[in-house]
Amino acid sequence: MLSNETVNIWSHLLGFLLFFLLGVNDVSTVLPASGASREDYVIYAIGLFCFQVCMLCSVGYHLFCCHRSEKTCRRWLALDYAGISIGILGCYVPGVFYAFYCNSFWRQVYLVVVLALILAVFSAQVHPLYLSQEWKLLRSALFCSVAAFGVLPAFHWVWLNGGFGTEAVQAFFPRVMIMYLIAASAFMFYITKIPERYFPGHVNYLGASHQVWHILVVLMFYWWHQTAIYIMTYRHRTQCPVYTSGG
Ligand SMILES: [Zn+2]
Repeated sequence: MLSNETVNIWSHLLGFLLFFLLGVNDVSTVLPASGASREDYVIYAIGLFCFQVCMLCSVGYHLFCCHRSEKTCRRWLALDYAGISIGILGCYVPGVFYAFYCNSFWRQVYLVVVLALILAVFSAQVHPLYLSQEWKLLRSALFCSVAAFGVLPAFHWVWLNGGFGTEAVQAFFPRVMIMYLIAASAFMFYITKIPERYFPGHVNYLGASHQVWHILVVLMFYWWHQTAIYIMTYRHRTQCPVYTSGG
């Protein structure tokens, strides 16, 4: 039956399928061809697993949010939020791993910090007030800060690589910027509720802001996965530079 949840459910169900098939393709073709080590396999498995969990939590929420029990509905909503945190984690792990490929100290520091951040968001999500209207702003602020934190390792990475003029930075920095552009526009639709706030009742089935948000999230994860493949291939081909200062 066509409903206002049809696109929400199918966009992320197909998203799940996409990341599952990408995983199969990585393991069977992409990773062996680039001479991947066991570590590479683990990193891609973590990233794609996180994306798939995020997709399935979202599908579950949009299937059952109309459940007659309010408690059940809220549990699925909590799971949907938890899924977004897991999706963000799935972006950070390969990002940090390949950006700091040649600097294991900072790689470990950022991986631990990111894990701590996601765990902090999780513990906030357990709070009974988390899903309340009063915490609406705090919820958005929490997600934004976890996503925006990535700016710090990104600029640190530019600095460690010798600034914006170097080859590696020029090859990858635009990709990071595009990632943030997709994330920002996805969040913009999510928060502002454009276009339905201007055309109430006209975009219930197709074109609502939440549907745009869903599609942009799939696009963002896909973009980041392709970027990780790109950086990995570069790292396997190019020798690590010798750092003169810093750990
Ligand atoms: Zn959703």
